[in-house]
Amino acid sequence: MKKKKIAIVGGGVVGASAAYLLSKEPTLEVTLYDAGVGQGTSAAAGIISPWLSKRRNKKWYRMVKEGAAFYPKFLSEVMDGSDIPKTVYNQVGTLLFKNNPEHLEDLLKIGMKRREDAPEIGELKILSPAEIKRKVPLYTGNDSALWASGGARVDGKYLVDLLIQKAINQGAQFIKDHVETLTINGHYPVLKTTQHKAQFDTVVLAVAAWLPNLLEPLDYKVDIRPQKGQLLEIELNNTATTDWPVIMPEGETDIIPFDNGRIIIGATHENDKGFDLEIDKKQLSHMLQDATTSFSDGFRKAAVVDYRSGTRAYTSDFAPFFGPVPNLLNVYAASGLGSTGLTAGPLVGKELAQLVLKKPTSLPLEDYPIENYIQSIK
Ligand SMILES: Cc1cc2nc3c(=O)[nH]c(=O)nc-3n(C[C@H](O)[C@H](O)[C@H](O)COP(=O)(O)OP(=O)(O)OC[C@H]3O[C@@H](n4cnc5c(N)ncnc54)[C@H](O)[C@@H]3O)c2cc1C
Repeated sequence: MKKKKIAIVGGGVVGASAAYLLSKEPTLEVTLYDAGVGQGTSAAAGIISPWLSKRRNKKWYRMVKEGAAFYPKFLSEVMDGSDIPKTVYNQVGTLLFKNNPEHLEDLLKIGMKRREDAPEIGELKILSPAEIKRKVPLYTGNDSALWASGGARVDGKYLVDLLIQKAINQGAQFIKDHVETLTINGHYPVLKTTQHKAQFDTVVLAVAAWLPNLLEPLDYKVDIRPQKGQLLEIELNNTATTDWPVIMPEGETDIIPFDNGRIIIGATHENDKGFDLEIDKKQLSHMLQDATTSFSDGFRKAAVVDYRSGTRAYTSDFAPFFGPVPNLLNVYAASGLGSTGLTAGPLVGKELAQLVLKKPTSLPLEDYPIENYIQSIK
């Protein structure tokens, strides 16, 4: 039997997850394209802890809550019985700080309520400074924090590398190239890259902030805008940080410990920079100082070993979407995952795979209506 040809454009967490799942199907021939420029996933801070956000959008919350719950199940499947590497995903718990202790109590109540239908939040407890110090020995502050044991951190780059390698092992083709155009030949989508042109049975667009580039030439209005995010990585010598929790001080800057003393500090949220990826070391150095005032000197004076920047995708009402592109046969898309796209990414990739396979999605399509954000203006 002739295999159906499926193309996925965009090899971030969404596209790589979809490629991994679709390449398991013996009736499909999967090709994944990725330009690899500005990718949100490889730049991401890595926090998977959506439950205690003050954001009130219920549909968004459902997506990120189910996305966080999906992670360990999905990665167990990807690892096929072997342990999930801690370098990729580690459920280390989250520590949330609030300047006002009353707000911590409020957050604990919200967390308890939300845990009723999100048991993956795990243990919830306000920890004293001494208890925090036992988890993070370099903590020198006097504040308490809310502990949620179900929080996790993910290395986005390792995650997509793993998913793409597994997809290749299952027979997928990975093309590191920029797709210049999407056109339609009868019922079939055609992709043209810098190197070649190919027709497919189905195309999945997982290109995040770059979605307008592929759809606007087909006379679509696309409600997606880019947001720049920068962060830095420090290294603490001879410090075992693998199991330190994710630390979320009040404000926008978080502290995400990885293995072997590597710690991510970030990230910025810059709405006026378009697709710019330039690193502003001065801005990041201020961010480092601000975020780490409650930690010993060793922490603040640690060597900066890396800077990263990437692009997030937002809709005008901050809501994510996925589904079939209106009036375009055999083309599906997802975007608008914003600052929680690493959390939702594997689940959204799975939903796109389900749509390609003509199977039901677990999130209701009508809650993430693509037609609100992609409109034909022909
Ligand atoms: C600094 C920063 C920190 C973040 N921290 C977190 C966090 O802690 N927790 C969290 O949940 N989320 C976080 N996010 C958000 C998260 O990273 C993104 O929402 C998510 O990774 C988006 O995944 P994606 O697959 O939709 O898109 P992306 O990862 O952006 O991937 C899209 C890919 O498509 C490629 N592409 C685009 N156009 C084309 C084309 N025409 N042809 C071929 N390839 C193309 C791009 O090069 C890119 O590689 C952060 C983002 C940033 C920038």
